[in-house]
Amino acid sequence: MGDADEPKVDVLTPRDVPLGGPRAMTVRRTLPQRARTLIGAWCFADHYGPDDVARTGGMDVAPHPHTGLQTVSWLFSGEIEHRDSLGSHAYVRPGELNLMTGGQGISHSEVSTPRTTILHGVQLWVALPGEHRHTERDFQHHVPEPVRVDGAVISVFLGELAGALSPVRTFTPLLGAEVLLEPRAAVTLVVNPGFEHGLLVDHGDVRVAGTALHPAELGYIHPGTETLTLVNDSDDTARAVLLGGTPFEEEIVMWWNFIGRSHEDIVRAREEWENASERFGAVEGYAGHRLPAPVLPNATLAPRGNPPRG
Ligand code: MN
Repeated sequence: MGDADEPKVDVLTPRDVPLGGPRAMTVRRTLPQRARTLIGAWCFADHYGPDDVARTGGMDVAPHPHTGLQTVSWLFSGEIEHRDSLGSHAYVRPGELNLMTGGQGISHSEVSTPRTTILHGVQLWVALPGEHRHTERDFQHHVPEPVRVDGAVISVFLGELAGALSPVRTFTPLLGAEVLLEPRAAVTLVVNPGFEHGLLVDHGDVRVAGTALHPAELGYIHPGTETLTLVNDSDDTARAVLLGGTPFEEEIVMWWNFIGRSHEDIVRAREEWENASERFGAVEGYAGHRLPAPVLPNATLAPRGNPPRG
């Protein structure tokens, strides 16, 4: 158990979600869920693999739209071909950040490449704050230089940690980093006390602030701490992704691939996608049809925020 000085940790457990595609690979989703909508501006967390793509069919997500958010693709193994309506054509590879900004509207496709044997990684979304949610579509690629601290190797893809600073601009204060923990290592990291954090464990038996997490669980660490201690309780290397950010105070409406502020925002985005509006542009080079939007629920979509703090 953690000592009295350690911050409170809530364990968020994943649920299995089929991702689409001919044989529908399954992902483990920890955000959003009933107990928590956001960690900082991080509003969506899918963890998948390691999957043998010969068995699962890999990833094949046809062109689909996004609004009001950024997507972060981070792989541990395998390769994904990304195409978007900016004209970007990129390969997502392990240890390389691919950050797509939806803003007012973008569309993209994601397909694991024939070279891929094992597909393993995370897909994360960042909610854009109200003042920037209609920003222009954008795509950035960045390869962070891993930094070594005693007991760990850390790749900071967004924000700042362990003396490493990502040059990639964010619209709210944010942290995203992969942490590889050596066997039996205990690592104490200095963090921003104004941030809340989430530790998503990929593999290994990891304790954060005294709380044990299983693979695919997301430990939510309340704001107010200046250090976070990560412990690897196993004889193998452990891996986790550390997320953080200033608590996101706005309520958002999230439905399918859209983030808005009202039911009407979502209805409009859906209609514009179904009508092939210029808002989302077109993806060139994908072999197949674009994804149709699902039918809206027969009820008004309610804004969601985080539970009251305390
Ligand atoms: Mn997407």
